[in-house]
Amino acid sequence: MNEAEIQGVQILLQTPQNIVIIPHKNPDGDAIGSTLALCHYLKKRKHNAVIVAPNDYPEFLKWMPGESEIVKFDSEQERSETLLKNANVIFTLDFNDLSRIGEMEPSVSACEATFVMIDHHQQPSDYAKFMYSDTSMSSTCEMVYNFIAFLGDEDLITPEMASCMYTGIMTDTGSFRFKATTSKTHRIIANLIDKGAENDTIHNAIYDTNSLSRIHLLGCALKNLVVLEEFNTVYITISKEELQRYDFKKGDTEGFVNYGLSLKGIKFAAIFIENLQEPYVKMSLRSKGNFSVNEFARAHFNGGGHTNAAGGRSDDSMEDTIVNFTKILNAYKVALN
Ligand code: 5GP
Ligand code: MN
Repeated sequence: MNEAEIQGVQILLQTPQNIVIIPHKNPDGDAIGSTLALCHYLKKRKHNAVIVAPNDYPEFLKWMPGESEIVKFDSEQERSETLLKNANVIFTLDFNDLSRIGEMEPSVSACEATFVMIDHHQQPSDYAKFMYSDTSMSSTCEMVYNFIAFLGDEDLITPEMASCMYTGIMTDTGSFRFKATTSKTHRIIANLIDKGAENDTIHNAIYDTNSLSRIHLLGCALKNLVVLEEFNTVYITISKEELQRYDFKKGDTEGFVNYGLSLKGIKFAAIFIENLQEPYVKMSLRSKGNFSVNEFARAHFNGGGHTNAAGGRSDDSMEDTIVNFTKILNAYKVALN
């Protein structure tokens, strides 16, 4: 954020406002962590702040401080609409295009509130008056930390806020291993521990609370893994029947795609998962090095994300999606070798 924008936000937040904070649909650790941290901060500054999420999120995030107060648009539409209508300020976090909030988009587009975006994805849309968009950032949580620091309020960070930000940085960096994890990220993490984030408790709450059925679903996914050697690519499939067989719960497939990338020499990993409610295939894409899955998802699967982590969808059957995917790979043979 430049000086003028920081000034602008300072003025905007000088007096108590009605604020709605929105994460993307199917929110992950960074989306929930960043919105909660910001919400706690804004409340501390005497604003009337509330989070409205497009829909629910995985069980492993449901210990986070303040989480139970998050309003879900899909199950509490009337209340959500009222909150949006009364908002003077809307923060959108961890996404940069209103299409990423799904069914909530028309209601949010119609709002006359002042929009503030905090996000680290590529190619931001132009809907926010104040835009803190930086694709070099590890996570939106790291940006929320910076945002609070820009406003001179690091001293206001409570253990609750610290835990929320720690969680999002941890999940979005694959536990501090991805390239965007800088020395600055580690310094912020150190500050968050000083401010009361309990690193061991948080790691345990996120990663060591598996159900047996999830572990079995992982086993099934790994059995379905296919290696396309000539493209240094792997893909995993999970069908609707398999999801049902292993009692699928939201978030159960989180991280599965990364197992593909752990194979020696693999540069591109994909997971295709049939949607349980509607006839489409959701995909998660991961890569190593310069191969941009963001561009791949944008060009072929109506998606996007980051260079090394992106998502998209296919309206074809699983079978046709795989045929199509393999065909498309031919054009990327050089890039993947
Ligand atoms: P995941 O594969 O973990 O769902 O998402 C990886 C990254 O890509 C995340 O940063 C996520 O926000 C983004 N992403 C996932 N699905 C989509 C999509 O359909 N469209 C866009 N633009 N981004 C996506
Ligand atoms: Mn993120």
